[in-house]
Amino acid sequence: MKKNTKKKKKNKHFHLLILIIIILGSLFLYKYTENHLAVKKLFNKIENLEGYITKYTIYGTHLNIEGKINLTDIDNIDLILFKNNKEQTFKLDYKVKDNTTFKLSDDINDGIDLEKLKIGEYIALLKINNKYYPLYNTTNYENTDYCTLTKNNHNNQIEISFKNKYEKQYLSINVKNSTQKCYDITIDAGHGGIDTGASNNDDLESIYTLEYAKALKKSLEALNLNVIMTRDDDISIDSYGNDGRAVLPNKYKTKMTISLHLNSNVVNSFSGYEIYKANKTNNNFARVLKTNIDKLTNMKASNNQHMKVADGIYVRTYKEDEIKDSINVALNNNFAPYAIDSNTNYLYMIRETGGIMTGAYIDGRDQRYGKNPYFNNNIGNETYLIELGYIINNNDLSIIKNDKEKYIEAIKKSIKEYLNI
Ligand SMILES: [Zn+2]
Repeated sequence: MKKNTKKKKKNKHFHLLILIIIILGSLFLYKYTENHLAVKKLFNKIENLEGYITKYTIYGTHLNIEGKINLTDIDNIDLILFKNNKEQTFKLDYKVKDNTTFKLSDDINDGIDLEKLKIGEYIALLKINNKYYPLYNTTNYENTDYCTLTKNNHNNQIEISFKNKYEKQYLSINVKNSTQKCYDITIDAGHGGIDTGASNNDDLESIYTLEYAKALKKSLEALNLNVIMTRDDDISIDSYGNDGRAVLPNKYKTKMTISLHLNSNVVNSFSGYEIYKANKTNNNFARVLKTNIDKLTNMKASNNQHMKVADGIYVRTYKEDEIKDSINVALNNNFAPYAIDSNTNYLYMIRETGGIMTGAYIDGRDQRYGKNPYFNNNIGNETYLIELGYIINNNDLSIIKNDKEKYIEAIKKSIKEYLNI
């Protein structure tokens, strides 16, 4: 009798399980078919006129695209991301001449925030005056892989490529679950070893940058971020070799690089911190960092007005005489001059870690420097070089010594806020 009841119960559970499987299966099949039909319907609507992507780049966490289409009668032009019968719309900036050129943003660290995309394939198309147009690839880049920031010990893998459906090409942004470990942030302690950097009596820049870098690594790891350092000891390191300072951020595919320095200027009585960012980036991170340094430390924004774009925020590009010097060096050493102009980033750590977005150019033609293997990358790090203060200014130096924990907290808090961790 007892046995029988048990058997009946077991049977009941078994039937319930089958029922649940059937319901879930049908739901899945329904959703799949619905999605399939929605995609087919979308592709039936796509016009024959081709849109072209002439440039697509990932700088930090954002995908930016530029392109053109041979159409001039335009009221409204968007990039749409289609998934599960829904479309997300991104406004495109455009210029109409003989044809129309468009881009997501003028800022290289803006566009589509890849961190916000959910699992699944997004179909990217042009939408002009409510009509859909395909997107063909005219860049040198077929596929670009991006790994999302580490959150709860997990990363997603995003494959950006061009695919065909119903004989029309589109940009595919495919977000997948991944078990691969990815790296998030590079911390660069400026100088090191025989290259001691700036100094004030026995106080050396290279010692403080290392101290700060180590502390910053520890505090970012407390956020479960995977952090690499360009050096973790008092040693001099190469810029462009296999584990070179400017190579590691791209080799490990980190999203952000923070390079730490202390300033020096014997001619002017400058003091305070200076945040250097890449040309053509918005001030979003730099502003958050400025706010937190102001709030948490005694260090003030620098009184140096040169190359300043906002309080405490700087962009250092090539000056005319430096461009001339560079051309002369090329001529004297028998290699073709680099294609640099007054928009090219001057600080190599900012320039060379950003690939084509920041105008990286160390391609090996100058034998003295070697080659940055990632100079031609369309995926790169969003890099900031922070001059923590002026080492030759005794007040700045004492703040650097006494406010280390607060300073580290300010940088950590800014990264956390900006990257939404
Ligand atoms: Zn330095």
